Amino acid sequence: MNNTPIRLLIHGASGRMGQALLRLAAEDASLQVVAAVVRKPPTQRVVEGIPYFAASELAGVPAFDVAIDFSLPEGLDPVLALCAERGVGLVSGTTGISDAQQAALNSAAGRIALVWATNFSLGVAVLAELVERAAQALPGWDCDIVESHHVHKKDAPSGTALTLGESAVQGGAAPRYASLRAGDIIGEHFVQFTGLGERVELVHRATSRDIFARGALHAARQLAGRAAGRYRVRDLLG
Ligand code: NAD
Repeated sequence: MNNTPIRLLIHGASGRMGQALLRLAAEDASLQVVAAVVRKPPTQRVVEGIPYFAASELAGVPAFDVAIDFSLPEGLDPVLALCAERGVGLVSGTTGISDAQQAALNSAAGRIALVWATNFSLGVAVLAELVERAAQALPGWDCDIVESHHVHKKDAPSGTALTLGESAVQGGAAPRYASLRAGDIIGEHFVQFTGLGERVELVHRATSRDIFARGALHAARQLAGRAAGRYRVRDLLG
């Protein structure tokens, strides 16, 4: 058995997700964070034994096996380029990315193993399947997706709402979207199918960011050493 820890780079380390990733990775002996990257030059160069780097210093980070990126859309391109150059894996949960960035992910997948997902929680993976089944079973019903998040969230509709919408489309529905930004809501997704005189409501509520961070760390463990390709969260569940 190989006991060498998987070396991680955490990109977006000072953010809400970055902090959850650092805390949970520290509890796992199979993982070792070798670099934490933040947007601006860090005030402290080493925090709890982890070296910090500014985004402008990415080229100089030490060797790592997988990068985990939860930053903002403009942060994705440089970390993707670094992973492609070094031939290492990338797990990205950054939402609100463009079609050109999706194309860049597809192209990099020819060289490295990577997974990009709008949501790393198991509950949302199940919700997506339920939405597709409901859409198939309820032809002609209205389909509305309402998502709520904290006031700091920049993109709308959320990436998760768009992923659920794709599932609804797969099932034959034509979803409409509504977004609420309020307080400190971590993430709620409500999918409503409305017929004549009846409604079906499906809902997922995240009460802790840890579900996304745990899913991303699991994906990183599964991705390390895999053949190049673009993987989905469900490909890495085992
Ligand atoms: P946040 O604003 O708290 O943190 C963003 C982090 O990114 C900060 O550390 C910031 O310094 C860094 N950053 C910004 N621009 C950068 C750049 N150009 N280069 C490097 N670093 C940069 O945000 P958050 O709540 O932690 O969310 C981060 C991202 O993850 C968002 O896109 C959010 O929608 C997404 N998210 C995804 C999931 C999922 O499961 N896929 C779950 C929660 C959040």
